[in-house]
Amino acid sequence: MDIHALQQIVHGTRDARRKQTLPKFSPADRDQLIHKYHPDYRERAYRPIRFGPNRGDKTVIELASLLEGDSSIADEFDLTADYTTDVLVVGGGGAGCAAALHAHTSGAKVMLATKLRLGDSNSVMAQGGMQISVAPGDSPVTHFVDTLKGGHMQNDHQLLKVMVEEGPSIAKWLLSLGVLFDRDGDGNLHVKKGGGSSKPRLLTCSDYTGLEIMRVLKDEVLNQNIQLLEFCAAIELTSDEKGNCTGAIFKDLDNHRHVVVAAKSVILATGGIGRLHIQGFPTSNHYGATGDGLCLAYRLGAKLTQIDTFQYHPSGAVYPEQLIGALVTEGIRSEGGHLVNAKGERFVNELDTRDVVSSSIIRECEEGRGIRTMSGRVGVWLDTPLLDAEHGPGTLEKHFPAMMLQFDRFGIDISKDPVLIYPTNRLMGNSLLDLMVFGKRSGLTAAVRAAAMPQGKLTVGHLKGFRAEAKKHGSSNGIVSPMILPAYTRKE
Ligand SMILES: Cc1cc2nc3c(=O)[nH]c(=O)nc-3n(C[C@H](O)[C@H](O)[C@H](O)COP(=O)(O)OP(=O)(O)OC[C@H]3O[C@@H](n4cnc5c(N)ncnc54)[C@H](O)[C@@H]3O)c2cc1C
Repeated sequence: MDIHALQQIVHGTRDARRKQTLPKFSPADRDQLIHKYHPDYRERAYRPIRFGPNRGDKTVIELASLLEGDSSIADEFDLTADYTTDVLVVGGGGAGCAAALHAHTSGAKVMLATKLRLGDSNSVMAQGGMQISVAPGDSPVTHFVDTLKGGHMQNDHQLLKVMVEEGPSIAKWLLSLGVLFDRDGDGNLHVKKGGGSSKPRLLTCSDYTGLEIMRVLKDEVLNQNIQLLEFCAAIELTSDEKGNCTGAIFKDLDNHRHVVVAAKSVILATGGIGRLHIQGFPTSNHYGATGDGLCLAYRLGAKLTQIDTFQYHPSGAVYPEQLIGALVTEGIRSEGGHLVNAKGERFVNELDTRDVVSSSIIRECEEGRGIRTMSGRVGVWLDTPLLDAEHGPGTLEKHFPAMMLQFDRFGIDISKDPVLIYPTNRLMGNSLLDLMVFGKRSGLTAAVRAAAMPQGKLTVGHLKGFRAEAKKHGSSNGIVSPMILPAYTRKE
């Protein structure tokens, strides 16, 4: 059936849905739902890593193969340094910029090297907002408890405590640099309620929060004259005879030459792995999110944590084809947008935690209550016109200008027609805070460390050990990592 015909069910059932009682989940129901439908529980998508620091640990097949992958650097590579610095930051997203700025403020000589342009990253695409307990009636303790619940009590309590406690100082720092967070009529910071949160806590800049934060951080990196290497992808780390990291080798993506940087401290801020399309999921991640830093650190002996859980954003676009995987911000559900199945019914509290909402959407689709597009993709409706219907014409345009424009390019007016969505692969609100807090802390620590030590020798001695282990475990997957950029061309 034509997509416009299918959309009529959303318009026709709005009144009934306003009165609908939502299904209530007991803790046991939630567990059962997640175990049955959440992609993290699909056994076939995982395998144990064969060797290295995480030997025996299970992770998704796509990541395991890259971690076991070989380096493109030969044992006898010429390691004459092209640049020498105190602190080398690899990655030009939010974490990298925050780390570089704080290391610089501490007096270190800093170089920031990044695979694409400064700011080309997931950080720039963040829309929904940044969770920080700044509102009256909220507190870091409440933020801590909400996050613990959302993480099924699996969170690292110490890291979480640091993150929520340092949140308000991060908000002050960003405001002092010039970030234009949304304000209410009295000029106070305006906060919205995010999924899984008991209080409104999301600081936003309309629906382009990441873009605004990155506008300011990028400017600041340039204003402070931090040395930049753009279009340079880190492809290996260097180590001294004790296995300490002493720098990195980059591939210049313009001229394919290698660039060697010697550094007393190296910070890897290369972001996530969305572009690996784990389990075949579409993604809203930027092209550089291929887990490069994980591979580099792994070869040098770093044990990775929490590589068995990934976050799936409930609402990625399914239609039109050109927008597949693009994020439809949680903000729309925060402002009351209903999720609707093919029968015209709501089937979950739209502001439940992401794992519950994602699992519920997958359940609807797997049990035949999804909506199928002409190209065979399945999803459920997000009733976007409801926002204008409930809060007055122009609400969507005012609060979600970027989202309106994104669909308008393809002739779709989301204030009139609902959008079709399905979970996509990626990470609500805590991530922006996470990268600011830990970017800052790593920048400060790296600067102190650099001031206290001489530059170590540059070798790739660690590769010998890694390759020997790979051989011992019969690994000959033929994969060279890091991936740098995903290949979308067809094999033939
Ligand atoms: C569409 C979208 C919307 C989101 N919305 C929100 C939101 O509303 N709130 C929220 O909290 N979070 C949100 N997130 C998640 C959040 O944006 C990210 O988790 C966070 O920005 C990651 O920051 P980062 O600095 O660690 O990584 P990134 O911002 O991805 O930066 C990584 C950088 O490293 C570079 N790099 C990668 N590999 C190499 C290499 N080999 N050599 C050199 N450089 C390299 C990349 O090019 C990039 O510049 C969203 C994410 C997406 C994709």
